[in-house]
Amino acid sequence: VNDSYGHGTGDQLIRAVAAGLQVLIPQGAVLARIGGDEFAIAFLSDGENAAALQLSEQILDFMVEPLEIGRRVVVVGASIGIAMSPAGAIDREELVRRSDLAMYKAKEAGRARMTLYDPSMDADREQRNALELDLRIAIESGDLTLAYQPLVDAATQALTGVEALVRWNRPGHGPVSPEVFIPIAETSGLIESLGLFVLRKACETAKQWPELNVSVNVSPGQFRNPAFTDYVRYVLKQTEIEASRITLEITEGYMIQNPQRTRQSIERLKGLGVKVALDDFGSGFSSIGYLRQFGFDRIKIDRSLVMGVNEDKRQREMLQATVALARSLDIPVTAEGIETEGQAVAMRLFGCDCLQGYLFGKPMVAEQITDMLNE
Ligand code: C2E
Ligand code: CA
Ligand code: CA
Ligand code: CA
Repeated sequence: VNDSYGHGTGDQLIRAVAAGLQVLIPQGAVLARIGGDEFAIAFLSDGENAAALQLSEQILDFMVEPLEIGRRVVVVGASIGIAMSPAGAIDREELVRRSDLAMYKAKEAGRARMTLYDPSMDADREQRNALELDLRIAIESGDLTLAYQPLVDAATQALTGVEALVRWNRPGHGPVSPEVFIPIAETSGLIESLGLFVLRKACETAKQWPELNVSVNVSPGQFRNPAFTDYVRYVLKQTEIEASRITLEITEGYMIQNPQRTRQSIERLKGLGVKVALDDFGSGFSSIGYLRQFGFDRIKIDRSLVMGVNEDKRQREMLQATVALARSLDIPVTAEGIETEGQAVAMRLFGCDCLQGYLFGKPMVAEQITDMLNE
């Protein structure tokens, strides 16, 4: 139970939600709070899923309605997992475990979903646990590495910076994409140490390239941590890097969910002298209208938008308008995922001052960046 501001589980909020659920549940059903923000509803039905699915839908509908708590009006969300058993066949703990597993699947699928348990979820969970364990070991033994992708000036195509991207070669499995293991690090409490490693390594490495800016990705789990600014301050001091050369990239999703806190965090970070960029712009909710208040130093246009720039007229126009709007707020714009000369020309024409993509270089080892600088 999180309210629309991302604040968790206040007692009043929990009580209000419980009261709402109480009204919805069928006669004879049991409502229990499992702990924190999780509830279980147990009831007997005629052996079909229909009753559980119907109830889930009613709950999700109920969640859409704003709740009045004191003088605040909040909207809450729910992810629902469903598990069934013939009466007495599966014990209660196991049923709760299964519904919990299904609930996590629902959560992964996005907000306000419901999912039925199926046995393949156990196999998934096992694989995931194994991956998580290996990742933990990799972080502890320093087996993660960083690749650096060139950022170039749109007008001259000169190298002006790099984006640090984490790499993991999983023993016995080969390379695993950060798109797979970052979310796992997020949910397993590993993101803090992973993020700290990336930031420190990037800052250390950047010292050999005094002429370059260095971008580092920050995931929501790091950004959410009130101590994050302290980490950054600590690493800056430890590595003696000039703060103004560091750009922290954060994604849109987090910002939309926590506008208030995002604003405060950005302010604190900028107080340290680092820059803050909005990453993957255009991939999700995209309301550029209120970007100004966040004080971003840069916006990065998502590859999914850039891709179609010369194929789709509508996309081209949208992209052009987006860049123009960002520029009208005096925020410089990077285009990512540039693969062709045509895309580079278009994005430069629209007003992007910085370009990134395979056309200028794939993510590479630090030595290759040094070679590029010496060319
Ligand atoms: P991102 O921040 O949007 O990074 C850009 C991704 O696009 C990188 O994928 C990069 O290799 C890829 N890319 C760049 N240019 C091109 C291009 O021209 N064509 C194509 N097809 N792809 C291009 P990568 O390295 O697999 O990273 C994926 C995502 O994982 C990143 O997306 C970022 O969100 C996350 N990530 C990577 N490293 C870190 C990290 O150190 N910390 C955190 N929190 N997230 C990271
Ligand atoms: Ca929860
Ligand atoms: Ca990025
Ligand atoms: Ca991006």
